Amino acid sequence: MTDPESQIDTQLARLGRDPQLHRGTVNVPVYRASTILFDSVGALADARAHRYDPSFVYYGTYGTPTVHALEEAIAALEGGYAAVAVSSGLAACTSSILAFVQQGDHILVTDSVYEPTRSFCDGVLARMGVATSYYDPRIGAGIAGLMQPNTKLVFTESPGSQTFEIQDIPAICAAVHARGALVLMDNTWATPLFFRALDAGVDVAIHAATKYVAGHSDAVTGLIVTTETCYMPVRKLTTLLGQYVSPDEAYLVLRGLRTMSIRLRHQQASALALARWLETQPEMLRVLHPALPSHPDHALWQRDFRGAAGLFAFVMQPAAPAAVAAFLDGLRFFALGFSWGGFESLILHVKPAHARTATDWDESSGELIRLNVGLEDPIDLQADLEAGFARLRAHG
Ligand SMILES: *Cc1c(COP(=O)(O)O)cnc(C)c1O
Repeated sequence: MTDPESQIDTQLARLGRDPQLHRGTVNVPVYRASTILFDSVGALADARAHRYDPSFVYYGTYGTPTVHALEEAIAALEGGYAAVAVSSGLAACTSSILAFVQQGDHILVTDSVYEPTRSFCDGVLARMGVATSYYDPRIGAGIAGLMQPNTKLVFTESPGSQTFEIQDIPAICAAVHARGALVLMDNTWATPLFFRALDAGVDVAIHAATKYVAGHSDAVTGLIVTTETCYMPVRKLTTLLGQYVSPDEAYLVLRGLRTMSIRLRHQQASALALARWLETQPEMLRVLHPALPSHPDHALWQRDFRGAAGLFAFVMQPAAPAAVAAFLDGLRFFALGFSWGGFESLILHVKPAHARTATDWDESSGELIRLNVGLEDPIDLQADLEAGFARLRAHG
């Protein structure tokens, strides 16, 4: 039920829904099922022949109509051929890579990658005999110089979710495709609303739907959107791994999807206002927000993205651990916690230096603080941070 001509907000209200198939119910119901029953030997054989086709229901782990609706919606939003839902964002990253490599292969991964993806490459992939090299996220077309004859794929993530480097995805895709390899992208930050990965040339777009798609800090799901040629390798691999999304989880993620655009627009505006204000604070060394002209990749962001999400970071002057704790511990509206993309604001003191091998992150020159700006009034959020800076200053 996708009309490719309709505007994105209209699509968000309609994608994956077909009330006529469900007795008029507005939302696709939660179909809980392990077993699917078939009318006849012929119908069973037909379902088996089409078991990787989301318009058929075959067995619970292959997805019920609730999960298929979510897959259909995200595939349409990202402009892909089809999508595969998996148990978490991390599972989406790892199974997308696994689908395309074998012993003796080599892959290239951005140095700014989500850290557990890196740990998977250095641990599991290395054990399987697949070698990983890390590259400067700002390498652009220079990626060509790092490609080896056995390089099967280049993994990108733009921006990095702690350090916010924007990658030149079109240039990377052109260089990598010229050498017959694939480009995978973790597109969790921008969502398909702010960056259309497949339009930019990416073969496999990955979303931790746990973040903005679900949007309410109550669900964990990963989504993989692929081109036609990449669909079957991913679908078969995730099926063989036993990857599964419960219909309850899929229902929550679909419910979140309906409001993703208005949430993101609000979060975008609040985050940008806070980022601009933070730039004026005396403690500030750098605000890492790609929509700020001061960001080193601002031009690239402007060229390729349609918006900026509510997650960004800043580097403030070095401070004693107790002073940073005084800043963070007294906050009323920014809570300490992992994950992001929910309706509530979060803050973290992050230290990415230990997970860098191709580039340096100088931790001694300042404290890196990451904000997930939620749906609270930005006036309250600014006052909260202002009081935090006062506590920091009082600490000396
Ligand atoms: C959170 C996150 C993931 C993993 O998602 P989970 O659902 O928590 O496993 C992957 N990539 C990025 C960029 C993330 O921020």
